[in-house]
Amino acid sequence: MKILVVGAGLFGAVSARELALKGHQVDVIERRDHIAGNIYTENVHGIQVHRYGAHIFHTSNKAVWDYVNQFATFNRYTNEVVANYKGELYSLPFNMNTFYQMWGVTTPDEAQAKIAEQRAVLGGKQPANLEEQAISLVGTDIYEKLVKHYTAKQWGRDPKDLPAFIIRRLPVRFTFDNNYFNDPYQGIPIGGYTQIVEKMLDQPNIHVKLHTDFFAKRDQYLADYDKVIFTGMIDQFFDYRFGELEYRSLRFETETLAKDNYQGNAVINYTDAATPYTRIIEHKFFEFGSGEKGQTVITREYPQPWHKGVEPYYPVNNQENNHLFTKYRDYARANAQNVVFGGRLGLYRYYNMDQVIGAALELVQKPNLFEK
Ligand code: FAD
Repeated sequence: MKILVVGAGLFGAVSARELALKGHQVDVIERRDHIAGNIYTENVHGIQVHRYGAHIFHTSNKAVWDYVNQFATFNRYTNEVVANYKGELYSLPFNMNTFYQMWGVTTPDEAQAKIAEQRAVLGGKQPANLEEQAISLVGTDIYEKLVKHYTAKQWGRDPKDLPAFIIRRLPVRFTFDNNYFNDPYQGIPIGGYTQIVEKMLDQPNIHVKLHTDFFAKRDQYLADYDKVIFTGMIDQFFDYRFGELEYRSLRFETETLAKDNYQGNAVINYTDAATPYTRIIEHKFFEFGSGEKGQTVITREYPQPWHKGVEPYYPVNNQENNHLFTKYRDYARANAQNVVFGGRLGLYRYYNMDQVIGAALELVQKPNLFEK
């Protein structure tokens, strides 16, 4: 079969590789000037810079972990985030260290009692929005200092107007454990993520073309290939016929500094209202301070509204948008049978990397989908 994969991100790369291994001829087109989509990393002074924001691989899925480990050696990086609220420093995710820093409490019983006392402002009712959900989980002090403004900056909305589910899975621990993720497998690929995608695409029957936008020759592509795997925006694919899905965008400001150590941690979140960015990443600390001596690279992350022409980083999965997405999905099933939509933008879903790999592996195994 002749297959076109639109997008050389992780979803495109895993599906291209697996289909090539099954003997199909696979062409991959990518509109950016590089492969790897948002997991792209580049070497600056021996430091792997995550061009599209901090990417930490974490998973509970052993099969996915084994799969990705074929393409790189992972270090034992553990994500331990620090929050800076007007110069006060707190450990994230919320755990006994945070409760001690906030209230001086030293035992889980004391921390739970403090949260219960502050939760009383809700009057026992079920949380109806993100603000109430956060107060119910961690109390009013932590909400005010660590959740409220950060969330408002991230989503461009008052937390009162955001659904509770966004933070329902937020880790809250009554142990002294700063590990951001609960997953048993976690790390950063030594030498960066780009090599993973490079190796995936390194097959004799895969051909990659950069600087190539699907929409420039859409009809020709659809005529020339037996199947198209499309990892771009599903609403754009259908010319926004039912309206635009909503996304959140980001602006990254990256600087190389002539010093060894700027902030002493890979990720520091700024949780006050006055600081316009949400976090600063110091890339060398994903690989324990590797790179040239006397150099460091930092990136400030500014959330932005999405509009046509800027990158759509996060789908905004509220009820209204999810409903609109199902319209596109149903329309695709009826009208675009040779096109398979995949990945973060094709399925309009906030996928982590492990979920993207899992979904692509599942797709290529679907019986009859890739047979003439
Ligand atoms: P993408 O990486 O977006 O790839 C899609 C590709 O398609 C892009 O390269 C795009 O240019 C191309 N494309 C789109 N339209 C067209 C077109 N018309 N023609 C040609 N090419 C096109 N996940 C984690 O597991 N851990 C993390 O710590 C983490 N942090 C993240 C931080 C940020 C800021 C963001 C935005 C995401 C993060 N993720 C993280 C999620 C991770 O980036 C995604 O799971 C993964 O990159 C999705 O892969 P994809 O192939 O679906 O999409």
